[in-house]
Amino acid sequence: MTPTGRHFLQIPGPTNTPDRVLRAMAAPTIDHRGPEFAELALGVMEGLQPVFGTSQPIVIYPASGTGAWEAALVNTLSPGDRVLCFETGHFATLWQEMARRLGLEVDFVPGDWRHGVDPQQLTEKLAADTGHEIKAVQVVHNETSTGVTSRIPEIREAIDRAGHPALLLVDTISSLASIEYRHDAWGVDVTVAGSQKGLMLPPGLSFNAISPKALRASQTARLRRSFWDWQPIIEAGRRGFFPYTPATNLLYGLREALRMLDEEGLPQVYARHRRHAEATRLAVRGWGLEVLCADEREHSASLTGVLVPAGHDADKVRAVVLDRYNMSLGTGLGKLAGRVFRIGHLGDFNDLMLAGTLAGVQMGLVAAGVPIDPTGVNAALERLQRS
Ligand SMILES: *Cc1c(COP(=O)(O)O)cnc(C)c1O
Repeated sequence: MTPTGRHFLQIPGPTNTPDRVLRAMAAPTIDHRGPEFAELALGVMEGLQPVFGTSQPIVIYPASGTGAWEAALVNTLSPGDRVLCFETGHFATLWQEMARRLGLEVDFVPGDWRHGVDPQQLTEKLAADTGHEIKAVQVVHNETSTGVTSRIPEIREAIDRAGHPALLLVDTISSLASIEYRHDAWGVDVTVAGSQKGLMLPPGLSFNAISPKALRASQTARLRRSFWDWQPIIEAGRRGFFPYTPATNLLYGLREALRMLDEEGLPQVYARHRRHAEATRLAVRGWGLEVLCADEREHSASLTGVLVPAGHDADKVRAVVLDRYNMSLGTGLGKLAGRVFRIGHLGDFNDLMLAGTLAGVQMGLVAAGVPIDPTGVNAALERLQRS
């Protein structure tokens, strides 16, 4: 079918870029060594701090989130260092693979892709490491492949309970600005984030928020680094500059996105995401299908993973939804290919966009021949009628 109207980009990132952000980026690129640029850069660096929940410097890279993953590792660790990782899903798997390729020794705790990091298991692993060989714990806050959110405050407590000095590195690429997050208060050492999910920007920017402890570790860390090195970036950043050409127009967009988050208020942003996630789960269960996340405490507020019944292909549902309703849903990643589709409900989003999204999923499931209750969406609409 020839698509008409507006495309529904309901993958869990990149998300729908608001018109305000698109317009803000459609401006002439300026001299990145001039005073107007410095004002822009200092403004966005300051505006990002409440979003990360930090008063420390934030490094901005002209790179996708994967680059900021690498930056977190090469700035804090040395060849042969041990890092503890948990198999919560596809992104946790990719990040630990990167750690291995960079020359780190990875302890990868197996998981079932339906749960987050188990704080008790973390305490046990660290308590057993009496020689403090583990130098860092790597956690994906919101596993975008599964729709499971790990409980970072409990993870911090688990590390403290073991009395272990390992650094805590957290990937918030699909949670920042959608799900409550506090870099300083939760004692995170490096927070990794990206532009194209909760921050409502196109892909192309990524971030590291850095604790004083991580900054100290960077002075002795010996993994090879050049482009990712925090030091020259922080140094130039104090005056509002970058050691290389920054992604100026994305920074225009970031300034506008930060204004939007500030106008709505972060607590309201988080509550909106939780409410949309709750309505989505009501629809999924109304259809008689299963939500992938298996722990009530860990449901993601930014996306929902949906299991299709055995004998049906989740990618066929996605193909039907794209063809008939001009909507993109997230595919099943890694081990979940064909078994799961993912509904993104993060970023610039409202009740009717969610209602349209869920109606499209329902019609797509019926059209693809998946046996469901074709009134399931009503439970979500009832939820949306309440505040
Ligand atoms: C999207 C995503 C990534 C990968 O980020 P890129 O921008 O594609 O490099 C990593 N981790 C999580 C949790 C993500 O959602």
